[in-house]
Formats: sequence, structure tokens, C-alpha cells
Amino acid sequence: MSAPNIETIVSLSKRRGFVFPASEIYGGLGSSWDYGSLGVELANNVKQSWWRWLVHERDDIEGLDSSIIQNRQVWKYSGHETTFSDPLVDCRACKGRFRQDKLLDVTCPKEPSANAGSGKECDLTEPKQFNLMFKTTVGAVSAEDDETALAYLRPETAQGIFINFANVLNTSRRKLPFGIAQIGKAFRNEVTPGNFIFRTREFEQMEMEYFCRPEDAQKIHQEFIDEFQGWFHSLGISAANLKLYEQTKEELAHYAERTVDILYRFFPERDDEEKQFDELMGIANRKDFDLMAHSKKPEDATGKRLNADSTEDLSYFDEATKQRFYPYVIEPAVGVNRTLLAILMDAYTEKTNDKGETRVILKLTPELAPIKVAVLPLAKNKPEIVAMAKDLKKQLLPAMRTVYDDTGGIGKLYARQDEIGTPFCVTVDHESLEDEAVTVRDRDTWDQERIKIAELKEHLRKKLD
Ligand code: ATP
Repeated sequence: MSAPNIETIVSLSKRRGFVFPASEIYGGLGSSWDYGSLGVELANNVKQSWWRWLVHERDDIEGLDSSIIQNRQVWKYSGHETTFSDPLVDCRACKGRFRQDKLLDVTCPKEPSANAGSGKECDLTEPKQFNLMFKTTVGAVSAEDDETALAYLRPETAQGIFINFANVLNTSRRKLPFGIAQIGKAFRNEVTPGNFIFRTREFEQMEMEYFCRPEDAQKIHQEFIDEFQGWFHSLGISAANLKLYEQTKEELAHYAERTVDILYRFFPERDDEEKQFDELMGIANRKDFDLMAHSKKPEDATGKRLNADSTEDLSYFDEATKQRFYPYVIEPAVGVNRTLLAILMDAYTEKTNDKGETRVILKLTPELAPIKVAVLPLAKNKPEIVAMAKDLKKQLLPAMRTVYDDTGGIGKLYARQDEIGTPFCVTVDHESLEDEAVTVRDRDTWDQERIKIAELKEHLRKKLD
């Protein structure tokens, strides 16, 4: 099973310390969320999985960490200053502001007044374009309206990769095809944020730009579409809750040849099956748009430079064919936060115990689980048991994230570890002092095994692998 709705995950997250509403003691900030001790571990594990899979395991991808604040020209020539906007509509009655293409996701904040269009429906204005980039000014002397000091918080990590193409190419001595991967924060002044961490104004992206010859782009694009579905499966997300969506000609960004989104069933409670799914990631064939846009050489029909400010030409010289061209780019772009939400929803399971009580089990894969093993003393008032448990925690820790917990009775402790996704609990009891063995309990089956302490680390390591 998986979570029946996002609300179930919101309450689990708050109860157990995955995610908290940001600025809560001051009434919150609508779309901001803070990650607690378990949330930050889970997010780190997701990012590590992505990084290891792409940058370490493959031989054709380099890593990068570019700045959040760049020269404003980056966003001028990428097209973001003029086109990175969403259609905004206002309700004349309730004064709510909505994104026209996402009206399904919002509810009217106030009951519209009686003179509104028709009954309870919002009375919407014509859409106007609203730019999503957050503005800031750079430098101590800058006045707020000083155009020369204007800068933006990046709305995506991708542009930082394109503008570093030549740096990475020259220092890594790569030949096509190769990719550059980056993980980092992005900021969008979303018109209608919401649905917990699904859509926020500050979020984190894992983006990879894969540079290739134009003639290879279609095939490589399809390979990444297939491989990313495999990666989501490896994170424990079931195939039944994933779906591909081919963007229509009308939906495609002006530079994209083909874009396929991988959707997740974020809204299982909706009657219409189609509306249960929403975007988890997008995989686009961006052609040669980006490298060309940031290059100094391309000219229009009259011989005028298309980019009057760039000092670099980001074309590629192919030694074999002696040809110079702008590589095509395949871009798989994933949100860390949406991936985390999909993982939590998919891992959520309920199980009934002997007493007929419902228990929550978070069936996270061992790779993702914030804690791999919890060592629990059966009697916390018995110093020898406590000492043995604490010592075991220390022994296991270098090989696997282990915690010691004595904050409740054993039943409560097991329930807590099940709910936060810890694959194994190790219990130290009175007998352990005699037989040098402990009980290992499995999160999913609740089966218990007696294991000799000398063999414990190897036993757990095998199970976790
Ligand atoms: P949407 O259509 O949902 O606004 P998008 O198509 O604009 O998303 P991209 O620009 O393709 O999104 O960004 C790549 C990924 O970054 C998305 O698939 C999503 O996982 C994540 N993402 C984008 N915007 C947000 C946001 N406001 N909050 C959380 N994650 C986001």
C-alpha cells in the first residue's frame, strides 16, 4: 500500500520530525518548510543516491556546484527575464490570485461574494504573465531600485552548468558525449505554492545536462527516460504509481524538441485517475539552444551578434570530423523535495498487530532509511544492559548509521522505529549478559532472531545490502 493522501504524510512528518512548517512560531510562511533530523538525513540519502548513480558509477558525468547568484546577463540570454513566467488570474470576488494552468490544485481562500460570476465559482480576470524570478540587489551601496545592482536568485540550477561548459570541457578533457551534474537550491516566486513540499518557493533540484552530437540526441533522450524510471524503482517507488507523460506541441518550451515528464500518483484520493498524477521530474531534449544563447558568435540575418555580452564561444570542435558545432543537450531535471514526498508516500504502510491496533510502517529502502539500526536496552535501569547497548551502538556506527534509544518501553520504541523507517532494531536484554547474543527485529515482518554479538555487524551488513 501507499499513503492515501498527502495529509497523512504531513502529519507523520510533523509527528516524527521529518518536516516542519517554517517560521511556525510566527505564524508560518505559507510555502516554506524546514527539514528536521530525519528529513535532512532522508534528503541527503536521496541526493547521495542520485550523485553516486550518475557521477560516480558512470564514467561520463562530471559534478559541479555553481553560484545561486550570477551575473544578471545569464538570465537575460537564457530567456528567463522575458519568458520565465506563469499566467496569473485574479478573482474579482474573493481577491484570490491563482495560476491559470493549475486551477485544479487550489481552493478559493475565501467564499466569493454574492455578486461573483456564478454561485461559488471564482470570477476570474483575464490572465497576465507574472515573472517567477526572485529579485535582489548586490552590493552594500545599492539602492533597492538600482537597475545596475539588480540580480536574481536562480530559478533553476541548469544555467550554472551551461555557462561553465567550456570550463568543465577544458579542465576535464572530455569528448562528446558527456554530462555535467549539479544539486542545489532554486527559487521561484510561485503564484500558488502548496500541497506540502510538492510546490514551494524555495526548493532543491538535481539537474544533469548531457551534451551530445545532434544526431545522437533522440536515442540518448530515450535512454535517460528509461534509466530514470529504473532509478525511481531503486528508491522503492512502485511502478504502479509512476507514469510517463509526453508533452504536447503546445506545452513544449520553445527550445525543446521533445519533453517527457515522469509523473507520480501524488493525489490518490482524486476520483479521476488521470488527475491523481502530477510531475515528479522532466526529461527534455533542449537541442543546441542553451550553448548557442550564451555564445558570442551566433549572428542574426543582418550580421548582428545575438549575444552582445558573452566573451566566450561555447561551441565544440570535433577532432574526428574537423567540424565545429553547438552540442545538443538532454536534461533530466528532478526535484529533491518532490522525490522525497513520493518516497514517503510510497513507503507508507499500515499493519494491524495482535491486539487489533493499527501501526504505521515506513518501508524505506535500507539505502534511504535515515537510521539503519536502533539499539534498544530492554531495561534502562540496569547499568550493565545500558552499557552493553551503548557499546554495541559504537561498534556498529562506522559501518551503518546506528542510534541508541531508551526513551520508552520496548513496544513504544519498536513502533517509533517502524514509523521512521528503521530497517532493524537490536534489543539487549538480561540474557544478553549471559549468552553474548541479542535479538534482531525486522521492521517489515516483525520477525525476531537471536544473533551472537560477534556476528552481529556482518549479519546486519548482509541484510542491509
Ligand atoms: P511545474 O510544471 O510543476 O511548475 P516545471 O515543469 O516548471 O514544474 P522544471 O522547471 O522542469 O519544473 O523543474 C524540474 C523539477 O524541479 C520539477 O520536475 C520538480 O520536481 C522540481 N520543481 C520545480 N518547481 C518546483 C517547486 N516550485 N517546488 C518544488 N519542486 C519544484
